[in-house]
Amino acid sequence: CGIVGVLSKTNSVPVLIDGLKKLEYRGYDSAGLAIQSDVDRSIHRARSVGRVVELDATTKALTARMGIAHTRWATHGVPSERNAHPHVSEGRGISVSVVHNGIIENHEELRKSLTAEGYVFQSDTDTEVIAHLAHKHLVQGLPLLAAVQATVKLLEGAFAIAAICNTAPLTLVASKKGAPLLVGHGDGEFFLASDASALVAHTKLITYLEERDVVLLETSGVSFFDGEGMQVEREIIESQLSA
Ligand code: GLU
Repeated sequence: CGIVGVLSKTNSVPVLIDGLKKLEYRGYDSAGLAIQSDVDRSIHRARSVGRVVELDATTKALTARMGIAHTRWATHGVPSERNAHPHVSEGRGISVSVVHNGIIENHEELRKSLTAEGYVFQSDTDTEVIAHLAHKHLVQGLPLLAAVQATVKLLEGAFAIAAICNTAPLTLVASKKGAPLLVGHGDGEFFLASDASALVAHTKLITYLEERDVVLLETSGVSFFDGEGMQVEREIIESQLSA
């Protein structure tokens, strides 16, 4: 299972697909991606069961500067297209898309309360609660960073997540606890991945997130926040992996 996120100067899609291929060794049963339209900021999603080449074949014509992608190793819900990530939550003009590695231990109670609030679940995954929680916070008026910060506070278990939405142009937010996630620093472009192998073809400059960190990727740069919401510095190191 693995995560890739890209904020590119040109087209994120080939970088997302290539990154997923590099993460295939971690194990997977399905794959998917979500991109933000460069034209109207809407979110477009593509998912497929099986190998990353299947997803590659159906996304060749797509282009967008920003996207997130995922290989899934199912823990909750059978391997299927409807359970493949990214998961989305839409309504009231807001569409948010989330990828997740790990297990949300309290997903059942979160699902119950979100259902009571009117959210309709489209999958059997533990992950989908994250998308709806983020959506709920966005609808309340929080920007994407604060919406993700508020969301991860409610999650028990292990996770690496990345989120994009239609109301935050060229903005990617990610967080981790008990699962790996790192940031890649390019020249005016930025990356997220579960491990450095997915990124070294694009940059060797990486930052490992610390537990409960939330990171904001924008075209102007990368900002790190700790679990208390304080902006923090995180070290950039040079990966020794060769591309
Ligand atoms: N628990 C999530 C699911 O079953 C994520 C699995 C993963 O880490 O790929 O969809």
